[in-house]
Amino acid sequence: MQDTFKHAEACWQCGTPAEQDLFCRYCNSLQPPDLDYFRFFGLEPRLKLDPEDLQQRYYKLSRLLHPDRYTRKTSREREYSLEATAILNDAYRTLRDPIARAEYVLKREGFENVEPRSKNVDLELLEEVFELNMALEELRAGDESARPQLEVARDKFLAMRSEIDRDLQDLFEEYDATRSREILEKIRRLLDRRRYVQNLVAEVDRELSN
Ligand SMILES: [Zn+2]
Repeated sequence: MQDTFKHAEACWQCGTPAEQDLFCRYCNSLQPPDLDYFRFFGLEPRLKLDPEDLQQRYYKLSRLLHPDRYTRKTSREREYSLEATAILNDAYRTLRDPIARAEYVLKREGFENVEPRSKNVDLELLEEVFELNMALEELRAGDESARPQLEVARDKFLAMRSEIDRDLQDLFEEYDATRSREILEKIRRLLDRRRYVQNLVAEVDRELSN
C-alpha cells in the first residue's frame, strides 16, 4: 500500500506546486484526496495516537470537506469532496481503534493477509479449546451443568485478551520508538492470537445467550 498513491504534485486548477496540502495555497481549490490514512490526517504513521487530537482533526476535516460547501464549486471539487469525505470516515474508523490501526500499519508496511490467519489454531491454547468444545457440545445437547464451566472459560479468555492488549500497548510504544520490523512481526503474532481468543469469547457468548 505504501507509495502506491502519489499525491498530485501540482494544483489541478492553477498548476502551482501543491505539495501535500488538501487545498491549493494559491487558488484555494480542493485537491485530490490522499489515500493514506495517516497523511490524510496530517499525522506521522504511529501506533500510539492521542484519541482527542485525532477527534479534533476529524471534526475539522469533516467541516472543511463537507459536500454542502461545494455545491457552488466546480464539479471536480464536488467530486473530490465526496471522495475525501468517504476516505475521512474510513480513516477515522480505522485509526481511532488501536487494533484496526495496528492492522492498517501492518498492511501499510507490506505484511500480507493480516486478517485471514485468524482461523489458524493457536497451539498454546489447544488444550483449553478442546475442553471448551466439549463443554459447548454438552450445553448444545441440553446439559445445563456445562454452563458454569463455560462461564469460567469465558472469564479466562477475557483475561487473556486483556493481557494481550497490555502487551500490545508496550509493543506499540516500542515500535514507535524504533520502527523495527521485528516488533511489527511480534505485533502481528499477538494480533493473530487476539483474534483467535476473541472468536472463542464470541462463540461462548453466543451459546450462553441461547
Ligand atoms: Zn491552485
